[in-house]
Amino acid sequence: MSTEGQLSELERALYARQIRLPGVGESGQLKIKGAKVLLIGAGGLGSPAAMYLAAAGVGVMGIADPDKVELNNLHRQIIHGFDTQGLPKTISAAEALAEINPGLKIILHPEGITTTNAMELVSRYDLVLDGADNFATRYLVADTCVLAKKPLVHGSVLQGAGQVGVFLPEAGCYRCVYPTMPKASDVPTCAEGGVMGSTCGVIGSWMASEAIAVILGRRTHSRLLIVDVMAGSSRVVQVQPADECPSCGEHPEIHSIEPALYISDDCALSVSPMNETPLEISIEDAARLLSGAKPPVLIDVREPNEWEICRIPQAKLIPMGEVPGRLSEIPQDVPVLVQCHHGGRSLRVTQFLRSKGYTKVSNVKGGIEAWSLKIDKTVARY
Ligand SMILES: [Zn+2]
Repeated sequence: MSTEGQLSELERALYARQIRLPGVGESGQLKIKGAKVLLIGAGGLGSPAAMYLAAAGVGVMGIADPDKVELNNLHRQIIHGFDTQGLPKTISAAEALAEINPGLKIILHPEGITTTNAMELVSRYDLVLDGADNFATRYLVADTCVLAKKPLVHGSVLQGAGQVGVFLPEAGCYRCVYPTMPKASDVPTCAEGGVMGSTCGVIGSWMASEAIAVILGRRTHSRLLIVDVMAGSSRVVQVQPADECPSCGEHPEIHSIEPALYISDDCALSVSPMNETPLEISIEDAARLLSGAKPPVLIDVREPNEWEICRIPQAKLIPMGEVPGRLSEIPQDVPVLVQCHHGGRSLRVTQFLRSKGYTKVSNVKGGIEAWSLKIDKTVARY
């Protein structure tokens, strides 16, 4: 379309409205043009992500997906159509993308990403977008990105909600938040899932926006965007590198891609699951759970002097510094909520517990301060 290092007249016209944006300009457009992006999964999330990245002028896009287009994909996988049913998704997607942007160089990886090819595949690209539909692939992609030092934009959806993760090298990875792959028994069956196509559209488009932000150098920290599309709300959780992380921590356990770590679940979920217990929940949700029939265990990680001022009746006090030595008092097999004053310390404890194999633990956002303000005004503030 043009020589390296400059835009052609056609490209200037094509991307005029985008180039005009503050912080983009011709130099930004050239960065987008120079980007080599690897898309894992050309499904519900990969469809909008790939279409918007192609339209934005990304130079090279690899598409890794081993599946074929099926009828029940079409309500959400909008890159495919009735006429490409039965074709490999890579080919179907490439046809659609060539219509959107003939200048895009597309590389097909119809074998998908595997433990054998992951390192070689990822190292050929600048940035990876993961819209995979199963945990084995998700963890494989996340670990490979850490080992290859590549930024990762992750997306997942379940029913009316989803999340977008941006994980930059050495700034906190997917396993810093979700250290261990859930067991097959914890994963909902195919039939239990369900998703609105437009929810995939929101999350996939958001993934494209984050990918462009990374390409333009606008992201300096890893973070998770949690989007409740059904409720029309979203929030950001900053991700800190976790010392205990098995992938990127101080003493990582994962030094190479070992196939045994990524045993695939037989049930290839047709819906990308986000069945992980959420990293954080709102104070309203915490109150609802605590007053329910099977309330979660609530751990207060503040200091004893703070506990003396106020407390939530159901809480058990284990100050943050004592948590590592008192793990036996925190059950692993039931939901656990962690709470502090404002939600900062408890988020760190939540990440720590997850690194120790607690998969059902969530931070209570806003802490006891939010409890005083929104749930029970008789609880003292300080
Ligand atoms: Zn990590």
